[in-house]
Amino acid sequence: MPSIAEREAAVFMRTGVRVPINLVRGEGTRVWDEDGKEYLDFLAGIATVSLGHSSPVVVDALTQQARTLIHVSNIFYSVPQIDLAELLVEQSGMSQAFFCNSGAEANEGCIKLARKWARQQRDEAYEIVVADGGFHGRTLTTITASGTPKYAEPFAPLPEGFVHVPYNDIEALREAVTSRTAAVMLEPLQGEGGVNVPDDGYLPAVRRLCDERNVALILDEVQTGMGRCGRMFAFQRAGITPDIMSLAKGLGGGVPVAAFLTNDRCAAFEPGDHGTTFGGQPLATAVALAVARYMVDEDLPAQVEAKGARFMDRLHSLEDRHAAVSGVRGQGLLVALELSSDIAADVVAACRERGLLANNVRPNAVRFVPPLTVSEAELDQAVEIVEQALAAVAG
Ligand SMILES: *Cc1c(COP(=O)(O)O)cnc(C)c1O
Repeated sequence: MPSIAEREAAVFMRTGVRVPINLVRGEGTRVWDEDGKEYLDFLAGIATVSLGHSSPVVVDALTQQARTLIHVSNIFYSVPQIDLAELLVEQSGMSQAFFCNSGAEANEGCIKLARKWARQQRDEAYEIVVADGGFHGRTLTTITASGTPKYAEPFAPLPEGFVHVPYNDIEALREAVTSRTAAVMLEPLQGEGGVNVPDDGYLPAVRRLCDERNVALILDEVQTGMGRCGRMFAFQRAGITPDIMSLAKGLGGGVPVAAFLTNDRCAAFEPGDHGTTFGGQPLATAVALAVARYMVDEDLPAQVEAKGARFMDRLHSLEDRHAAVSGVRGQGLLVALELSSDIAADVVAACRERGLLANNVRPNAVRFVPPLTVSEAELDQAVEIVEQALAAVAG
């Protein structure tokens, strides 16, 4: 019998590098591979499985809605969709929501909306100012908006109208925003780019700049939103609100569903401006509604804040015992361990051997994004495994 790797090599496009394990089952923070080996999953489907694997909240909503009505299209009304829009609007302070299927698609919607709005302000306004090291998805437009040129360059020609500036540099932003600028688009904390936390004053200063120059502020909360950073939305830590925002990863607890929201100021879409076949279907929105309600009812963001603080404390303590560790950064349960040399891939592999899944977002940074329902015992166990891995890799 050919292995899964051999079968993949024959028929599957190799767009990324696989970790050589075949996961077949999950429950809570744990997953099991085909040989029955157990792992603590601190990657959680890339920060998507927010309530843990096969959470009863997700499974019950999914099965109940699947038996009732799966899909009707946006030609008809749908109750779960409007319930979810009401909840997200209430939680975020925005005024309208639209649902789609992925983070990239949500960001495309944000960009279209900002451009439509900006053209109503100033005829020449279409540029979107974005940050180096940012990540907004893999469509042609979102790779252009992202801050990693190697993701984009092979696919030229790329859409026009994106201006890159260094992240966390308000002076650079001040210079880049002109009368041609439609919007500034940023992550409140850069996830894929390395778990880069901006200075406390940065986002408030960006908000003020956008107000002064009458440009839209788009926040990409695809990774940071839905409790991940110890608030329902990461912008709430900074005490600001965006004009337009996107959500995806944690929104459906592992089921694909995404959203973008706007305030009244930028609500420029009219019938005919945007659409999607699958987006906002009863099945996906019923699941997201159950996940979001659970988060609100249990005050999960506050739990994430407390658990994240404890986890980061424990990781910090590794600094005293291991010269290979140079720092810890993050918010809530979006955390990176910073290493003093480029050994992150080896540390990740050593963790995996010892039953902990994580990934390296930089050659010298390991990211941890466990389910938000992770227990304190599991967090402690993960730190122990990281310590053993460090000892094995760096001595
Ligand atoms: C993952 C991610 C995206 C892309 O989401 P997809 O669902 O893969 O399209 C966009 N923005 C941020 C901040 C992300 O972390």
